[in-house]
Amino acid sequence: MRKKLIAGNWKMYKTPSEAQQFVREFLPLVAGHGRDEIVLCVPYVCIEATAKAVHGSEIGVGAQNMHWEKEGAFTGEVSTAMLIAAGCTHVIIGHSERRQYFGESDETVQKKLERALEEGLTPIVCVGEVLEEREAGLTEDVVRRQCALAFRGISRKKAAKLTVAYEPVWAIGTGKTATPQMAADAHDVIRKEAARNFGDEFAEQMRILYGGSVKPDNATSLMSESEIDGALVGGASLVPKSFAAIVKYG
Ligand code: PEP
Repeated sequence: MRKKLIAGNWKMYKTPSEAQQFVREFLPLVAGHGRDEIVLCVPYVCIEATAKAVHGSEIGVGAQNMHWEKEGAFTGEVSTAMLIAAGCTHVIIGHSERRQYFGESDETVQKKLERALEEGLTPIVCVGEVLEEREAGLTEDVVRRQCALAFRGISRKKAAKLTVAYEPVWAIGTGKTATPQMAADAHDVIRKEAARNFGDEFAEQMRILYGGSVKPDNATSLMSESEIDGALVGGASLVPKSFAAIVKYG
């Protein structure tokens, strides 16, 4: 059985004090809900404050991006060592908003994935098709290609913490959600690509999350699908009550 991971992606919302306020309200709402792993992926400047606020709970803190080099003259960038020192255990890599607006490519995703695994962070690698690709019947090809390029050159031994999020781009922030079956089909492609690279046993235990307008009212049906090993939640993770309701699906 794969333990599910419910990760919030706050995107570019909340200051450190707003992050602390969120945690103050959120913790009592999820007290005793240790069924799944819960992680808050927050803006860089909120990492330390969030990590302090969740200290003593089971909730983890993640970043939304990172640089692939250890350190260097890369103005404005943040390294894995910095993330870890600030309190991160997880990092989102290759979110579609980074691919769309900030020049993230399959190549930079691969480099970031390699570095994150090397340094012991749990990477959440995002893949997914845009609407035109789905309508053209290209979903499988796109997802397979994104995974193949991301996994390239990574050994099975190093890959241990690898987590993938299937996020159809047309479902992110739009209120449209993939059906559990659509997600399961894409997850199957991702799992097969993981098996091809790292072996069947590895692929069987690798977590694949679904992301794209997960809300309290659709969380139960999505999370009941056995191929869906958790959720990456954007908008609904910004409000303690709604994120707690998702965590308490079922
Ligand atoms: C996301 O940011 O990864 C996401 C899935 O956003 P939303 O839940 O708002 O669609």
